[in-house]
Amino acid sequence: MKRRDLIKYLSVAPVAGAAIGTGIPFQSFAKNTSAKRDVIKELGLRTFINAAGTYTTMTASLMHDEVVDTIQSSSNHFVMINEVQDKVGEKIAAMCHAESAMVTAGCWSALVLGTAGVLTGMDRKKVALLPNLSTFQKSEIIVQKAHNVAYVHALTNTGATIVEVETAQEMEKAINSKTAMMWFLNSSGPMGLVKHEEFVTIGKKYNVPTMIDMAADVPPVENLWKYNDLGFDLVCVSGGKAICGPQSAGLLMGRKDLIAAARLSAPPSGGNIGRGMKVNKEEILGMYVALEKYINTDHVAEWKMWEDRVDNIKNAAGKVNGVSTETFVPPVANHTPSLKISWDQTKVKTTPKDLLKNLQDGSPSIEVMTGPDSINITVFMLKKGEDKIVAKRIQEELSKASI
Ligand SMILES: *Cc1c(COP(=O)(O)O)cnc(C)c1O
Repeated sequence: MKRRDLIKYLSVAPVAGAAIGTGIPFQSFAKNTSAKRDVIKELGLRTFINAAGTYTTMTASLMHDEVVDTIQSSSNHFVMINEVQDKVGEKIAAMCHAESAMVTAGCWSALVLGTAGVLTGMDRKKVALLPNLSTFQKSEIIVQKAHNVAYVHALTNTGATIVEVETAQEMEKAINSKTAMMWFLNSSGPMGLVKHEEFVTIGKKYNVPTMIDMAADVPPVENLWKYNDLGFDLVCVSGGKAICGPQSAGLLMGRKDLIAAARLSAPPSGGNIGRGMKVNKEEILGMYVALEKYINTDHVAEWKMWEDRVDNIKNAAGKVNGVSTETFVPPVANHTPSLKISWDQTKVKTTPKDLLKNLQDGSPSIEVMTGPDSINITVFMLKKGEDKIVAKRIQEELSKASI
């Protein structure tokens, strides 16, 4: 390269030029096939041990190698996305006792698309109108008061409105010619007055489609088919929580006509409310493999492993004077062995928030949940052996604060 050309080259390649002068390893900008690039490290992002649970802010769960392999191998090919949805939908439906199924961009997307399907049916003119329901006969969704949480925003995204009820009697009275759907939030099941069976019975009696949101409600694995068996018309699940599928994937299962209608509001078509909820072949196929792996897991052995992990952390923390521990299993959602650690703050002089901060700032960094007077641990997102690290760090921090 002539000098003039080199100067020209350097002036249009500021990064490479700067790298030479600033001591930034040149290799990080060069094509390097031997060492794998670690972008997380490169960008200085904090990684941590997840002893908190499947939280979206923490990127929720880690995919198994089989899922990542599927994503990688499928990324080398072009396929028709509708054919992928058809084939995978059939497989998922068979695994979960549903008539039909599709992979969505998370459970939230399943809620939106399922509701859209109920509102429009196979009428493409209606699909194009959403969320403007002014010409629709049916636009109301019945929700129990105890189930009316922030996630209903997914339903109202379609333009539908919520009608809140408490008793079964109120529910039946609320059903009229405008009623489009009835929605059940599984995690609020124990709080609501109308339970699953009665809810479905009322839906069938008045011919109103019923939808259940069971986003985070495996384990138990049986829940994947339980609500299809019970007769819910649509079942919505998160793919990236305990199932450890892609974090941006979920499942919509249920009646064949409703899934077909839901797909009209989903990509690849445009001119609908769901066009932004894209899942590509990698996520659809990855979700399928994750679901299959999850169903085929030895759930009894896995549960025992989680109990052992909880015991390890419990025993270590319990050695510190003034500390009490309690094992518990949340009844629905994150239904896995969990640990609550609390302490007498006159003996152990730290607060849950300060303890969390020290765990986050330690090496390796650790995330746990905090309560008003405790820290709470779940162990199902830990990698092998991390329970011992968590046990040691928590014991250290509690001991440090003991007087
Ligand atoms: C997590 C969750 C959702 C959203 O699921 P995504 O898969 O993150 O889209 C919806 N409803 C409930 C009850 C949830 O817990």
